[in-house]
Amino acid sequence: MSSRPYVIDQLISAKSIAARIEELAREIEAEFVDTDKLVVVGLLRGSFVFIADLVRELHLPVEVDFLEASSYGNAMKSSREVRILKDLRGEIEGRDVLVVEDIIDTGHTMTRVAAFLGARNPKRLRTICLLDKPARREVAYKASWTGFEIPDKFVVGYGIDFAQRNRNLPYIGTVRFIDDPQDAPEAV
Ligand code: 5GP
Ligand code: MG
Ligand code: MG
Repeated sequence: MSSRPYVIDQLISAKSIAARIEELAREIEAEFVDTDKLVVVGLLRGSFVFIADLVRELHLPVEVDFLEASSYGNAMKSSREVRILKDLRGEIEGRDVLVVEDIIDTGHTMTRVAAFLGARNPKRLRTICLLDKPARREVAYKASWTGFEIPDKFVVGYGIDFAQRNRNLPYIGTVRFIDDPQDAPEAV
């Protein structure tokens, strides 16, 4: 938990996110055109806004389920040990599955989640992440679809938090601390 003062600089606007989701939805529809029903799995909690917008843009029969994996605590660093905290409610064996993640950073979370769900023998298992930080990768992992590649900066908004705050921002922004003279905005 941080009580250091910070400001949020917009990195990706709500309009850009919406436009990108439309493009991604058309690609996902093409991939799953023959599906009887797609199981869209959101990774809690960071993907809840993204999955809500994505499913409303998908012209396919969908079911929505959620999985929670531990990654970040409240600190700005990634934990390598990924645990499944909350399992799916539904069965995915023989089903078409799309896992929806907010950010791929080191790659540990998605590698673990894909193995965990893949072991249940879905018919097709695809993944989508809104944001990807390729510079931070520790294990090779590439989602089937990526919204935006971003630099190695801590981001918030559009479902993504900083110590459980800022998830309700409609855009993606970067956190900048203003008590550090180096980071402080220039005086005007
Ligand atoms: P990975 O296992 O790929 O290192 O971690 C992925 C998870 O770390 C993401 O799902 C997200 O919860 C968290 N994460 C990575 N980068 C950021 C970031 O810039 N801001 C926030 N709030 N969480 C992040
Ligand atoms: Mg996450
Ligand atoms: Mg988090």
